[in-house]
Amino acid sequence: MAAVSRRNFLQTGSGALGLTVAAGLGLRPASPALVGGSPLDKLRRRLRGRLLMPGDRGFAEAIAPANGRYLDVVPIAAALCADEHDVVTCVDWSRRYGVQPVGRTGGHSYAGFSTTTGLVIDMGRLDGVSVDRRHGTMTVGGGALNANVFNATVGGPLFLPVGTCLGVGVGGLTLGGGIGYNTHWQRLTCDHLRSSQIVTAAGELLDLDSRHHEDLFWACRGGAGGSFGLNTRFVFDLAEAPRQNVTFYRYDWRGADAATGVLSAFDEILATAPAALNAVASAQAVPVGRPGPREAITVFSRGQYIGPSGELHDLVQPLIAAAGTPVKITLTEMTFWDVQKIFASAEAEKHSFGDISRYARQPVPQAVVANMVDLLTRCPSRSDDANGSLWSLGWVGGPAMNSVGRTETAYVHRNVHTLWRPTPVWPNDAPAHVGNGLIEWTNEVIDVLRPHTPDESYQNFPNRLIRDWKREYYAENFPRLVSVKTKYDRHNLFRNPQSIPPRRSKR
Ligand SMILES: Cc1cc2nc3c(=O)[nH]c(=O)nc-3n(C[C@H](O)[C@H](O)[C@H](O)COP(=O)(O)OP(=O)(O)OC[C@H]3O[C@@H](n4cnc5c(N)ncnc54)[C@H](O)[C@@H]3O)c2cc1C
Repeated sequence: MAAVSRRNFLQTGSGALGLTVAAGLGLRPASPALVGGSPLDKLRRRLRGRLLMPGDRGFAEAIAPANGRYLDVVPIAAALCADEHDVVTCVDWSRRYGVQPVGRTGGHSYAGFSTTTGLVIDMGRLDGVSVDRRHGTMTVGGGALNANVFNATVGGPLFLPVGTCLGVGVGGLTLGGGIGYNTHWQRLTCDHLRSSQIVTAAGELLDLDSRHHEDLFWACRGGAGGSFGLNTRFVFDLAEAPRQNVTFYRYDWRGADAATGVLSAFDEILATAPAALNAVASAQAVPVGRPGPREAITVFSRGQYIGPSGELHDLVQPLIAAAGTPVKITLTEMTFWDVQKIFASAEAEKHSFGDISRYARQPVPQAVVANMVDLLTRCPSRSDDANGSLWSLGWVGGPAMNSVGRTETAYVHRNVHTLWRPTPVWPNDAPAHVGNGLIEWTNEVIDVLRPHTPDESYQNFPNRLIRDWKREYYAENFPRLVSVKTKYDRHNLFRNPQSIPPRRSKR
């Protein structure tokens, strides 16, 4: 299909064409009244699904991302695709009219990478999930959410290790890795990917697996969404759900000293933890009461152990040795699926966030943990809906994760120990200083961690403030990702502020 130059575009066009160019250049779209008889009308006519434009009923809901910081980015239109052919139509249209296409599944990109002033290609209706018990596989539509996968497998003999939030898209999750409470013993979501179908920048529908377009298949396991095309289908190998009971635990404490004790002891536990232990530790700044800011910290560790309660009890004993008797204790055997129901978190009220994550290769010195907790006691906001918390996601390392090499998939972060993550949240309508203060606080926590951690950060927790993101997200896999990008999207149709760039051609 012939590309239309920007000049042609302006010469041939009505206001609608100008509107399209403005969107492609990242400008605010013009009035919807200009749209009649335009390329957008052509697109609307070709789609089996719906095309929503500013002013249409449901438009605001359709374009709203999970992170409130990007609510003011208004696309020229949102295509609610009915099937993969609609996705091809949208990609061809975007290429033809020079409009930036951005794929959207669950809308949970931390950095707003499924927002654009161009065309949002919403794949949410491609949410079919079917389980093939005989072959132990599951076919998932490119727009399915964790909730769809959960509902299709809950209570059964097979499962897919996904993330904790039911509203997150399986597409975005898988393409960037996919971590959760089953990673430590079952590896990443993308490690279970057997094949995928993708719409490329050329509008081709390709089937990918380890023998067909294996370079692109490799990139789809950790190279993150937003760079290579739009995946309309995934096929996963499922894991066997334990038939015996497993053990769930949650211990709660209060105060800064307990926070330092728990986070440090948890770090030490992880150094030798068996794959069967899948757990996190966290501390959060809460409203300050009479005992002062050091006491206004809630602390907890929780997780599951694929084994009996006695073994788990012994494994997590160092937490109690370090922080004293918890104020609340739960340690109990349950069915595997009852534990998954505890972990599966429903969608929270939409808010703003700005997490930055940092992998560690070994326990960080206790003095460093104490410094981070000190920062938590000085967190600039500590109300119920605006606060900072500190997480150690202990799922990301261990023998199962390390059974895959750093370059075997595009997800490079193997042989790590834990993933540290300061998490700031604030309401969308909070005054600017609230968000700014929490972002500054997050950066200070990262500065404390930096000398003790490799320069590696989880690509599925992207943050636009990470300047050296190419190295932090992809390390030694970055050059190969650039080669794959150059082969399949030389003109950089699929892009966002941290997408893989194509290699520049030498003239
Ligand atoms: C509240 C919350 C909880 C989270 N919990 C976890 C967790 O437990 N574990 C974890 O690993 N991560 C977690 N994440 C991070 C999450 O994995 C990433 O944000 C992921 O990219 C979101 O995918 P999405 O489809 O929901 O988002 P979107 O914003 O729709 O998409 C994210 C990116 O992927 C692209 N994309 C989406 N779908 C496709 C597709 N089908 N084909 C090609 N590109 C696509 C988009 O264009 C965009 O660039 C969480 C995020 C939030 C906000």
